[in-house]
Amino acid sequence: MAGDHYFLELDPPEERLRHAPHVVVVGGGFAGVHVCKALKNADVRITMIDKRNFNLFQPLLYQVSTGLVSRGDVALPLRELVGAQSNTQVLLGEVTQVNPEGKQIVFNGKAYSYDYLVLATGSGSTFFGHEDWRTFAPPMKILEHAEEIRRRLLMAMEQAEQTPDPEARQFLQTVVIVGAGPSGCEMAGAVSELMRWAMENAFKQLDPEKTRIVMVDPGDRVLRAMPEGLSEAAMQSLQKDGVEFLGKGRVQTMRPGEVTVGTPDGDVRIQAATVIWTAGVRASSLGKKLADVTDCEVDRGGRVIVEPDFSIPGHPEIRVAGDLSSYSHTTNGKPLPGMAAPAKQAGSFIGKDIAAIVADRPRPNFSYFDFGSMAVLDRSNAVTDLRGLKFSGGIGWILWAFVHLVLIPGWENRISLSVKWVFALLTQQRASMLLTGMPSQHLALDAADAHFPMQAGEGPSIAAPDAALKAAMDYYSHHVIGHPQTQELMDTSEGSATDSAAAIK
Ligand SMILES: Cc1cc2nc3c(=O)[nH]c(=O)nc-3n(C[C@H](O)[C@H](O)[C@H](O)COP(=O)(O)OP(=O)(O)OC[C@H]3O[C@@H](n4cnc5c(N)ncnc54)[C@H](O)[C@@H]3O)c2cc1C
Repeated sequence: MAGDHYFLELDPPEERLRHAPHVVVVGGGFAGVHVCKALKNADVRITMIDKRNFNLFQPLLYQVSTGLVSRGDVALPLRELVGAQSNTQVLLGEVTQVNPEGKQIVFNGKAYSYDYLVLATGSGSTFFGHEDWRTFAPPMKILEHAEEIRRRLLMAMEQAEQTPDPEARQFLQTVVIVGAGPSGCEMAGAVSELMRWAMENAFKQLDPEKTRIVMVDPGDRVLRAMPEGLSEAAMQSLQKDGVEFLGKGRVQTMRPGEVTVGTPDGDVRIQAATVIWTAGVRASSLGKKLADVTDCEVDRGGRVIVEPDFSIPGHPEIRVAGDLSSYSHTTNGKPLPGMAAPAKQAGSFIGKDIAAIVADRPRPNFSYFDFGSMAVLDRSNAVTDLRGLKFSGGIGWILWAFVHLVLIPGWENRISLSVKWVFALLTQQRASMLLTGMPSQHLALDAADAHFPMQAGEGPSIAAPDAALKAAMDYYSHHVIGHPQTQELMDTSEGSATDSAAAIK
């Protein structure tokens, strides 16, 4: 049994736990939280470690990006979610190493011992070897990404409102979304609603009809993982909202203000002030680190290939769950999808299994219950495939809303989301349209003296919030229309195109 570092040397909360096994859970997402919950009444001491102090409900990030709900509606502090359990301590930190021989993990520069280790650090985005595109096209994985996307969309509309040239306005009203899976489609529908609503109601100079949203995907249809009928219904709904689909297309190059897409009919260049990336997912790097120090294998996406009980070969005390794992012990032999329900079910199973081992009870078997899949297309329209029962339109949306309210943790979030959705349904208004993130206006300088837009490099080390748009406008001015007319509009600072491109890095 592990030695001296339980709970950072604190006394156990209950005497019976003094010699209880120590379960370290790394990652407080769907999987990690459900491991802790399933171990609530077990005689174990749990340390939950996450590099964020909150659990994030990623399926609703697109609603944060488009101002429908705010950050607090989709996140819940881990101390509230699992920290209240008497046998659980929550620690903030990034686990950087695993030492399976010594049964230790390293985080915040120190080594801590475990008896059971659950790795559930999820996945991040990948740009398929083009990391330099990351700053031009934010992905959507964490809260900061969602807020950066919202900032770029709102900044572009604010700029368009002040732009006399109709072509430059068209550029500012154009959005490219890379990826036409559930995240891409949800994003496209929500961006269309946001821009049309904002332009019809809140901006005086902008023509909603000039909004252009292009979804790019290598496939020949949207939502390829869904049955064709639902994919067709989704496409029709998105087209009604003015979304264009550029199928069989792969992004070849990207720079501020322009995306070049290779298609069977040749390259297509799209000038757009805002580009959003929903295309690639890659498992957290902890999987690879684990593989380097054990005999376990990782698949092409960096997921750890696990045994039927989510352990790795030769290490029954190490379990890997959620997006970080590749679990193929299913009836059809296909790996579980990287989705919330498999992560949640795996987490619950692992917790129950460890509880059974510790209590010397018969161990459970894991079997995955597939509820189906769904994607929402606007604030009253979704497609759902629930174990063969297919719905689209309003009924699809009601089912989608119900499932998401059940899945999201915390009653406060459920109530807040329900109110905001009903409000949006009735009034079409959006609750969270604030353009925030101006560090110069609240950190380094006195608010009264702060510049707008902030100058590149001004203030603390985070990038100027308007830098991405400025770089796109620089490109448009110099390369598309060939003169710096629109540049002048943005150029209240002395930064050049190079400065602003550098600032968004
Ligand atoms: C935009 C978007 C939309 C989605 N929509 C849907 C949907 O509609 N339906 C659906 O079923 N699924 C959806 N998913 C997928 C779903 O969110 C994931 O499958 C699920 O979150 C995976 O859960 P997890 O516990 O494995 O990882 P996560 O929920 O990603 O949690 C991982 C946790 O680990 C922490 N962490 C990472 N590295 C470390 C480290 N080294 N040390 C400490 N902590 C670390 C992170 O901070 C995070 O809290 C969506 C995902 C995204 C990004």
